[in-house]
Amino acid sequence: MTILNWPQFKIGSDLTFFDGFKNLIFKSSDKSINKSNTPSGQVYLIGAGPGDPELLTIKAYRLLQQADIVFYDSLITEEMLQLIPSKTEKVFVGKRCGKHSMKQQSICDLLVNAGLAGKNIVRLKGGDPSIFGRLAEEADALKFHNIKFAIVPGITAASGCAAYSGIPLTHREYSQSVRFVTAHLKQDELQADWQNLASSKDTLVFYMGLNRVSQISKGLIKFGMQDSMPIAIVDKGATDQQQVIISTLKDITKTMKGVKLLGPALIVVGEVINARQIVDLEMLKISEVVNESS
Ligand code: SAH
Repeated sequence: MTILNWPQFKIGSDLTFFDGFKNLIFKSSDKSINKSNTPSGQVYLIGAGPGDPELLTIKAYRLLQQADIVFYDSLITEEMLQLIPSKTEKVFVGKRCGKHSMKQQSICDLLVNAGLAGKNIVRLKGGDPSIFGRLAEEADALKFHNIKFAIVPGITAASGCAAYSGIPLTHREYSQSVRFVTAHLKQDELQADWQNLASSKDTLVFYMGLNRVSQISKGLIKFGMQDSMPIAIVDKGATDQQQVIISTLKDITKTMKGVKLLGPALIVVGEVINARQIVDLEMLKISEVVNESS
């Protein structure tokens, strides 16, 4: 078993790096600036990346500076929220353990109402909005009400976790393709796909599977995958609390015992895990940034 912790890094008030962005940011078109007499608002559905606030795109950052209101979910970290101007209204619309979660329809209603009120809105989602992000429902609601919207991609958890854990998602020798799978299916739905998943040569990346690691590993073994197949769990990937657990399908349940995983976590299954490299996460720490142009 290998457990790696990402060395502490402090983001806090040290946002000098992002001041440097100002020189890179393009002047916004008139369209993207909210005017109080604009009859209808507009919505940007934006991916924030998996954790490290510096994985936000420059476009996402610029649009966040112009927003009147930001609706964000539980994958959005405190450090990301600090990149939003303090005057901007921030509304949490996610799920938090033990607390009542907002229904998707209510989130759509909030977006639509703010749009009809002429606001310049950002809907900020973890990772990439088009991957298990319920993007289509929100886009449909906006379209139905004739509210303009655009989508800004983000780094999905699979890419972020792969990079920060040193696990390649594809490899010339082990895997030519990768599959993103939701583990958040009813048991019979997941059941139906076992055969297919277990015989796959793809790297399998399970989202939303932390509570189902045992089921997933047993299911894959049952339908023919070798029980020595490597499996990795990347918990809180691309954050200062990242933990990586490496095991095999046969042993993963045992390996996880006694390890406190907080989630969100991603499960990777495939030979690519054997090609893992130890990356130097110290090098990605946010430290003083010299702004050469100033
Ligand atoms: N749209 C997101 C996925 C939303 S589904 C994206 O593109 O990444 C939520 C799931 O994403 C979590 O249950 C977890 O499996 C994964 N996830 C999101 N952020 C993560 C992180 N920092 N580390 C590990 N897994 C993460």
